[in-house]
Amino acid sequence: MNITFLGTGAGKPSLQRNVTSNVLDLTQERQEMWLFDCGEATSHQIQRLQRKESKEQCELPNITLQKISKIFITHLHGDHIFGLFGLLTSRSMSGCKKPLTLYGPKGIEKILTTVIEITESFMMFPLEIIELEANSDPSIPFLVFEDETFKVTAIELQHRVQSFAYRIEEKESIGKLDVQALLQIGVQDHTIYQQLKDQQTVTLENGQILKPQDYLKAPQKGKTVVIFGDTYPCTNAVTIAQNADFILHEATYSQEFEVLALERAHSTTAQTATTAKNANAKKLYFTHISARYHHPEDQKQLVNECRAIFPESYITQDLLRIEI
Ligand code: ZN
Repeated sequence: MNITFLGTGAGKPSLQRNVTSNVLDLTQERQEMWLFDCGEATSHQIQRLQRKESKEQCELPNITLQKISKIFITHLHGDHIFGLFGLLTSRSMSGCKKPLTLYGPKGIEKILTTVIEITESFMMFPLEIIELEANSDPSIPFLVFEDETFKVTAIELQHRVQSFAYRIEEKESIGKLDVQALLQIGVQDHTIYQQLKDQQTVTLENGQILKPQDYLKAPQKGKTVVIFGDTYPCTNAVTIAQNADFILHEATYSQEFEVLALERAHSTTAQTATTAKNANAKKLYFTHISARYHHPEDQKQLVNECRAIFPESYITQDLLRIEI
């Protein structure tokens, strides 16, 4: 899987950084792409990415509106949702009939249905909107989505409006079949291979018993990604990010603006790095960067502030794709 940062700036778009949106590309795992937040001009960013990657002869699959099957909204501030209306109607206008499920805080359904109704827009595809309901105990993550291969949970953060972090866990995949070992005992039948993969014990015609655990290699651990909404530091952030392979967390301000960050319910570099460290995460990418840090030297300083606490810290840039 890989993640693409479509917008990495805070508050309002700039020429250097658009407002928040990220795509988790799960093409290899499940032939899908999931979008996290959708600031204004997200559709444009997708087109810019296509142009950039075609010039670079990138071999990764194109991100297209049709491939996006789920959208997860962290919170309802405009810089995280104002691109939704255009993106959804463009997806519809392109003739896409594939269903789309949208998850978000309470209120997202009213916003969308109001805009769709007043603008007389319509969706050519089935659009399901699921509003999140936090646990009665807000310190425990709650289930958002689960199937055989993936599980998504969320937890409430601390921001000026209700804001969530999403934890995306790829489930452990069953180990590969040791075909070589089976060939050595003369088993070539693909039906038997499938039975072993399905964890069934097989009795051969000669009476020999094949147990699946003897012919399946060790299971492969799945990846865990945590994508945060805006927040100031809180214990829930550490809880949801425990042992994650990759976390994407805001760091709107440098360390010196701790008071301002608290006033606006955002995080500083040092606070974000501390969350990553306390959560025992493997890698931190920080995002939602204030436009005041437009100079490369300023950005270097932000990275240094994070790395002083959590060495595996990296700054995001618009249209950057990272393998997880
Ligand atoms: Zn916000």
